[in-house]
Amino acid sequence: MKSSIRPVVAPQSVPSEAPDAVLADPLAPVPDIFAKARQFTRLREVQEMGLYPYFVPIESSTSTEVVVHGKRLVMVGSNNYLGLNHDDRVIAAAQTATAKYGTACTGSRFLNGNTDLHEELEVRLAALTGKEAGLVFSTGFQTNLGVISTLVGRNDVVVIDKLDHASIVDGCRLAGGETVRYRHNDMNDLETKLRRARGHAKLIVVDGVFSMEGDIVNLPRLVELCAAYNASIAVDDAHAVGVLGATGAGTAEHFGLTDQVDLIIGTFSKSFASIGGFVTGERAVIDYLKHHARTEIFSASMPPAACAAVIACLDILAREPERRLQLWKNADRMRDGFRALGFDTGGSVTPIVPVVVGDDLATFEFWKRLFDAGVFTNPVVAPAVPERESRIRTSYSATHTNDQLDFVLEMFAQVGRSMGIIS
Ligand code: PMP
Repeated sequence: MKSSIRPVVAPQSVPSEAPDAVLADPLAPVPDIFAKARQFTRLREVQEMGLYPYFVPIESSTSTEVVVHGKRLVMVGSNNYLGLNHDDRVIAAAQTATAKYGTACTGSRFLNGNTDLHEELEVRLAALTGKEAGLVFSTGFQTNLGVISTLVGRNDVVVIDKLDHASIVDGCRLAGGETVRYRHNDMNDLETKLRRARGHAKLIVVDGVFSMEGDIVNLPRLVELCAAYNASIAVDDAHAVGVLGATGAGTAEHFGLTDQVDLIIGTFSKSFASIGGFVTGERAVIDYLKHHARTEIFSASMPPAACAAVIACLDILAREPERRLQLWKNADRMRDGFRALGFDTGGSVTPIVPVVVGDDLATFEFWKRLFDAGVFTNPVVAPAVPERESRIRTSYSATHTNDQLDFVLEMFAQVGRSMGIIS
């Protein structure tokens, strides 16, 4: 391995008896494992300012509105792209599956937790994404952990975008090989990194749509580079399935590059109104993952209701393409609206539309005022985004009405002006 390829994390193995422990001064005070938690005062400070924005308890919801502390808000902080989480057909499918199989499988698919629904779902996802076979996991996060750590062995290299999702970063931490990061969507930097990793088996793992930016990977160039440097490609389409492509199959379909992408990874927690994750690709690779991925084998399977909900969503996606079109109309309306008001929406070109504020506290303040005005958004600060690029992340559903969207724009305009973010 060339020394220029630096891991993003420290080596994984911890010696069972660290040499320091042997040499430790027996009279020195013993460090307290909970000290870091007790010194974590930032939480209370923000709470005391009345600006704490996380773990908001939702009391009830529709696909586009939520009730919090008895107050109704328009939800633009969800990833409910197709607006299917309250669809009667999806709810009925989940209820029927619960009645037939119970609420849970109480075990791993490997042993007692596999149902015909899990298998049907895998066949359907392989068909949607144009791949030979599929494998579902209990979350998208577990999918990335399992796929990357299983495939990237000791002498291999995994190459990731600096803004890839945390589950990809953590998958790399679990992997035996080296991790190399390239600047966000910078194909020249990627080429430099691929050149340095010559001679190693390489997997590039990249978000199709970046979750905090709303931009799309430059897949055409990435595919060319992978061919030139003999690298394989996995695209995490968490925010792209159901959203991008003529049939909603995701980023590869959007660019007409399905055959050039080796693995398509996704989640059911967004367009598919459920919970779980999947990977599709060549049958041999899927079979290998099925029998080696620890997050698959040593974790309980998706509940049957969750599988049935996704299958119902897949049916609706196929039969009602107008939903996807409406989603894009709504997203364009909002992106254009924010830009016309003078907000910075970064590189967004998808239904994820951030409004960049910059400072953390100003972002929390902006969030709070929007919340009080009846708009539910997500404030995003470092490390989820680069320092000083804190933002209000908004995202849209096919089921938002024009009245709701215009209300959101009006509230952003009022709050943005009162805080001096726009003039
Ligand atoms: N990948 C990306 C790009 C994501 O945005 C997310 C969730 N935010 C995940 C993976 C994890 O998916 P899940 O919610 O199913 O664990």
